[in-house]
Amino acid sequence: MTNFYPFFSKNLVRYPYLYPAMGYSGNTTGINKDALVMYIDMNSFFASCEQQRHPELRGRPVGVITYDSPNACVIAPSIEAKKFGVKTGMRLGECKLLCPQIIPVTTHPAWYRQIHVDVMAILKSYCDDVIPKSIDEAVVNFTSYRWVYKDLTVIARQIKADIANKYDYLTCSIGIAPNSFLAKLGTELQKPDGLIQITPENIDMYLARLQLTDLPGIATRNEHRLKMIGIRTPLEMRHSSPALLRKAFGGIVGNYWHSRLNFGEVDLYSNENRTMSAMRTVSRQQRENRQALESMLISLCTRLEQRMVKQGVFCKEVSFFIKYKDNTGWDVKIKLADPVQDAMELRSYIQERIADFEKSRSIETVFSSKTQSMGVAIQNLVSDKVLQYSLFDNRLKKDVVRKVMYNIKDKYGKNLVRKGSELFEPDVMKDAIGFGSVKDMVVQDDGEVRNKYLLEE
Ligand SMILES: [Mg+2]
Repeated sequence: MTNFYPFFSKNLVRYPYLYPAMGYSGNTTGINKDALVMYIDMNSFFASCEQQRHPELRGRPVGVITYDSPNACVIAPSIEAKKFGVKTGMRLGECKLLCPQIIPVTTHPAWYRQIHVDVMAILKSYCDDVIPKSIDEAVVNFTSYRWVYKDLTVIARQIKADIANKYDYLTCSIGIAPNSFLAKLGTELQKPDGLIQITPENIDMYLARLQLTDLPGIATRNEHRLKMIGIRTPLEMRHSSPALLRKAFGGIVGNYWHSRLNFGEVDLYSNENRTMSAMRTVSRQQRENRQALESMLISLCTRLEQRMVKQGVFCKEVSFFIKYKDNTGWDVKIKLADPVQDAMELRSYIQERIADFEKSRSIETVFSSKTQSMGVAIQNLVSDKVLQYSLFDNRLKKDVVRKVMYNIKDKYGKNLVRKGSELFEPDVMKDAIGFGSVKDMVVQDDGEVRNKYLLEE
C-alpha cells in the first residue's frame, strides 16, 4: 500500500518502522516457570521415511544419500546404522568400513515433505501455536493451553500415537519445558522415541549428566570460552551470574544463555516482529546526481541483504522512504508474496513502486535534487530454518554441506577448510563490500578488510 505524503505538505513525516525493535520482541523477557513449550524432533527422519515406504528396509542399516556414488555423503543414517557408528555427513565409503551391510538409498524430498505436512497437521490439532523449525522439527507453545491440558506428557503420548497411526514406522523424541531451548534439550536427552519433561525441580539432575557441548548451540569454541572463565559444566553454567556469562560470550548473548538455562524464553519467536533498517543522509553532490541516489538505494538493500544472510533470515515486507529538504517525503510499504533475501530483488520491488508513483502523479522523479535522506527497512522476518521445508529441493544439499563443513571446522580448525565460494567468488564478495557501510567492515588478523556480514562465524 502506498502512502502519499505530498511533496507540498508541511508536516514532518514520521517513519516508526525505521527504528529497529530491540531484542526479541514476542518472547517473554522475564522468567516464566509456568510456560509450557513442547519440542518435537522426528527420529532419523529421512531414513525412517524410506523405511516407512519400503518395509524391506525396516530394521536394517540405511544411509540416505543425495546422489548415487561411493563419494556421496550420508545425510541421514537410520537408527540401525547409527548403532554401527555411522554419522550424518560421513562419506558412503567411510560408512561401509564401519557397517559393510549399509544400504544406500537416494532421497525422495516430495515424500518427506508430505510426511512433514501430515505431522504438522497432527500438532495443529492439539494447539494453534505450531512453529516448524525444519522439515523434521517443530516447537509448539502450549502456554495458553495450560488449563486445558493438565498433563502435557499425556498429550505428548497421544501425539506419538497419532503419528504412529498414520506412519507406523515413524518415531519422534518429545521434550517439554518452560522454554523452547530446554524443550529442545529434552529431545536430545532420549533418542529414539523419547519423552522428557524438564521442570524447575529436575533440571539440575538432567544438566548434571551433560557436558557443555551437549547443549544445543554450544560447540567447541564456546566451550573453550566458558572454560577459560571457569565454567566447566552445564550445571555450573546455569548457576553462573548473567555478568559472568556476558564475559564468556562477549555481551548480550551471555544474558540469553542465562535466561535459557533459567526458564526465560529467548528463542521461540526470535525472528518475528523484528525490523532491520538502513538509512543514509545525502550529500550535496549526491543529490545533484540521480544515478548516485539510485546507487544509494542499491547500497541500502545490499546492507540489509548482508545482515539477513548473516542472521539466517528472509523478509516478507520491505519499506522505503525518501525525505526532502522541505520536510516533505514519500514512502511505501510492500508486502512480498515470497520471502526475499536478495538485495537486487528488494530493490526491484521498490523501483517498481517508485515508477508507478511517478507515472500516476506525473512527477519527474522521486530521486529529486531536493533529497535529504533515504532509508530501507525490512520487517516480518522469517528464519531460513522455517523456510527450509518449502525450499527443500534446492536447499537441502547446500544446508547439509554447510553443516558438515562447520563440523569439520570445529574439529580441525576453521582455516583448514573453506567454502568453494570463499575461494572462487572473490569478485562477488568485493562487489557487496563496495556497497556496505564502514560500520560493517572488520580488519582481519592478516590485515585484510572484509565485510563482517559476509564472514562465517
Ligand atoms: Mg531429527
